[in-house]
Formats: sequence, C-alpha cells, structure tokens
Amino acid sequence: MVKSIKDLNLKGKKTFIRVDFNVPIKDGVVGDDTRIQEAAKTIRYAMEQGARVALCSHLGRPKGEKKMEFSLKPVADYINAKNIFPVKFVEDCVGKVVEDAVNNMKDGEVILLENVRFYKGEEKNDPEFTKELAKPFEVYVNDAFGTCHRKHASVYGAAELINDKAAGFLVEKEAKYFDKLIKNPEKPLAAIIGGAKVSDKIGVIKSLLKIADVILIGGAMAYTFLKYKGISTGTSLVEDEQMDTVRDVLSQADKSGIKILLPCDHIISDKFGGEPSVCNEQAIPDGYMGLDIGPKSREEYTKALEPCKTVLWNGPMGVFEQPAYAEGTFAIANKLASLGVTVIVGGGDSVSAVKKAGVAANISHISTGGGASLEYVEFGTLPGIDILR
Ligand code: AMP
Repeated sequence: MVKSIKDLNLKGKKTFIRVDFNVPIKDGVVGDDTRIQEAAKTIRYAMEQGARVALCSHLGRPKGEKKMEFSLKPVADYINAKNIFPVKFVEDCVGKVVEDAVNNMKDGEVILLENVRFYKGEEKNDPEFTKELAKPFEVYVNDAFGTCHRKHASVYGAAELINDKAAGFLVEKEAKYFDKLIKNPEKPLAAIIGGAKVSDKIGVIKSLLKIADVILIGGAMAYTFLKYKGISTGTSLVEDEQMDTVRDVLSQADKSGIKILLPCDHIISDKFGGEPSVCNEQAIPDGYMGLDIGPKSREEYTKALEPCKTVLWNGPMGVFEQPAYAEGTFAIANKLASLGVTVIVGGGDSVSAVKKAGVAANISHISTGGGASLEYVEFGTLPGIDILR
C-alpha cells in the first residue's frame, strides 16, 4: 500500500507537493483548469493541517531552459484570481530564493515554485539538482499521477531524499484502483483497447494477457490484427511491421484461454473523414478504410461486457472526434456507465469520450494520466509510486 497524506504529521512542516499544473495556457491565460481543481483537495488538506506548502510542477516542454512562455506565473495568478486558494509565486524552483521563501512561510501558507523543467537536471534526475530541489523540505507529497511514470527529480529523486513521504489524494486513488486491477481484480476482467497503433499499446496488451479474461480490440489497431488473420483491410491504417507481435499475442491468448474480440463489421469510407457507410462483412472492400466498429460489433462488444466484474478501457473504437465515426466509442462509454461494476478508464481520448457522453459520474475511476495508466498496467507499478511505498 502507498502511504497517504493522511498518515503524515504536517503541522508546521516544510512540505514539497509535486502537482500536475501542466494546464493549457493561451496568451498568458489559463484555459481548462481541471488539473488545478483536482489537486486542490490535497493542497487544501495540507493547508488545514498547518503545513508550509511549496507546490512544484512542470508546464510544457521548455527542455531545460528558462523559456518564459512556459512560466507558471500565470497559473499562480489564475489560482489567486479565482480564489481557489491563496498562493504566492516564487521565481525559481531551487536556490536561495526558494529557501528564503520557505523559511519565511507561516503554517498553512502556500507558494508555487517556477517550472521545474527550466532545469535539465529535472528530466535527468540529476543527483546535484535533486539535492537542491529537496534541500528546503521535510515532507514530500506526490499528487501528480500523470508524471509518475517518469523517473524525474521532482517525481523520484526528491522523494528518495526525503524520508517523510506520501501520496496525495489523487495519486492515492489511482494507486488503489490500479493495484487492485493488477493484483486482485474481481473476475471476469475485460479490457477494451483501442486507438491508433498496436505498437503504442503492445506492452499493455501483453500484460493484460496475464490478468484479463477477454480483450476487446477496436480502433485502427484492429485492422493490423485482421490483416494478420488474412482478412482484407482495404486502405485502413495497418502496421505491417507489427505482424509478428500480433501473432505472439494471438498465440499467447489461445494458450491461456483468453478471448480476443475483433470487429466483425465496420463503418467505412473511401477517405479519412469522407462519407460513412456500413460494411456488413469483416473484410473491407478495396479502396475503403475502416473508421469505426460497425453495428454488429457494437452489439457483440457491449454484450461481452455484461458478465464482467471489472473493466479497463483505453483508446477509442474509431475516429470518434468525427460524429460519423463516434458511435462505437459512445456505445462502449454508455455500456460501461450502466454496468454497476468496477470500471477504470484511462487515456485522454477514452476519458474525453466518457465526458462527452455525459456518463463520467457513473464510472468508478477516471484516470488522470494517459501514459502513466498504461505503464502502470504494463509494469505493475510506476517509479513515482514505487518510491512512496
Ligand atoms: P491513441 O492515442 O493511440 O489512443 O489513438 C487515438 C486516436 O486513434 C484518435 O485520434 C482516433 O481518431 C484514432 N483512431 C481510432 N480509430 C481509428 C481508425 N480506424 N483509423 C484511424 N484512426 C483511428
């Protein structure tokens, strides 16, 4: 189990909290503030406990340079303007200016440090930089699940150096759901894997072969599977170099008695985003590409989920950004919301589909990290979480 922030004594403690404030900023104005709102629960809790809180985050990819378009100052201004909690901005994340700011804080106060990726040492987990970053602090808290798969200084190295450490509420919830999924899921367990490429999700699929009872494949990656089976895929997106991988996956599934479902019909078009039509066959005619699973597949997939007690979903069933090719993805989202069992949704596109379908409230766990959630399933843990154990 990961230690929770509730297990720490925070009163008067100089507390480093790694948050994910990597929010969209346009012309110096914060757009979607979901990530700030999500971390606010942990921050407010620490304030109430009398911690002296320094928030550390990255923003964008400044690649180790002080590029002011990636400054976190607008985020601090936004948090104050919206009265989310009072916060003072500090123009660096290491050095005397941070030490002074921390030493001058009163219990319950919060500062936001400048973008930690302004230093090359962050992504390299450089020992010198890590030491500087951790130096002023007595307590380490990680509430940035989306970066927990990165062995960076603020995620890993600083936690290694500070003895008193724990997960914030967001990370604690993620760890609870993913640990149970990997180690002790209620069975049957279904995994729905979609999206563009087999190559992006192969690690996860291989790990799922050890725990799932049924795997539903959708999105463009389904066509690589169909092509391997000798079924025509027209001009659909296919990764020819993944045929050996697909062979291994199918043979492993066969040996372990795991069912792999592939679409038996499709929504197709003669070009990406062109006029849609239903292809009733599994084989796609020459000159056409598959852009969503078809009506029979929707029925088969949603039915396969009915007996399941746990479901993991990552990746859309089609080009769901376009309404003509979104029905397969929404059918999955709506079905998942009606099951009343443990459902974990990860990955930006599936999360946005669940939100667009208006069913987010009926999903047990919506992960805040796309890459992190995939790596959690693939490797059974994440560096940023492991170091808290
Ligand atoms: P991923 O990031 O791997 O989960 O892939 C998500 C992307 O896959 C979305 O932008 C979808 O539009 C795209 N996608 C899903 N199905 C297809 C398909 N049949 N053909 C092309 N792109 C697809």
